[in-house]
Formats: sequence, C-alpha cells, structure tokens
Amino acid sequence: MFARFLKAAPACPNCGLRLDAHQADDFPAYIVILALGHILVPLMIEVNAALAIPLLWQALIWPGLAILLALAMIQPVKGAVIAVQWSRRMAGFS
Ligand SMILES: [Zn+2]
Repeated sequence: MFARFLKAAPACPNCGLRLDAHQADDFPAYIVILALGHILVPLMIEVNAALAIPLLWQALIWPGLAILLALAMIQPVKGAVIAVQWSRRMAGFS
C-alpha cells in the first residue's frame, strides 16, 4: 500500500485500485497523538507512583518512547484511514 514510509503507492499492485486518491491529510497524526497521550500519560503516572526514576532519565525515556511509538503507529494508522475512506467511498474513491 505504501511506496515509501508514509507515501501511498499510486495503485494497488494486485488489483490496480488507485491509492493516491486518498485525502488522509493530518488525520493519522491526530489519531496517533490522541492514542499516545492516552497511553503514555497514565503510564508515566503509574511508573512515577511505583518507582523513583531520576528526572534526567525520565527526560530521556518518555520523549524517546513517544517518538518510537509514534513511528511504529503512524504507518498502520494512515493505512487504516485510507482503508476507511475506501470503504466509505470517500475522497477520490467514489
Ligand atoms: Zn488491491
């Protein structure tokens, strides 16, 4: 589905469906930010309640974890947004 990390392929190699007609825009990033906030903030609270991790380590761990999880989530989420647009015949999939 993707020609590059976040660039949709022009067409499906199997059926020829045009994939560049999607209009996902920033919606995948909004979903990732919303999901990561709901994952990381409770995790930070629980970890700080249970452990006494020095602030310097926390300043490295939490942003690093946020970046890694965001990179892991953004491509599948964008694929899901494109799939929903295709299934609803939205954007250029009419
Ligand atoms: Zn296909």
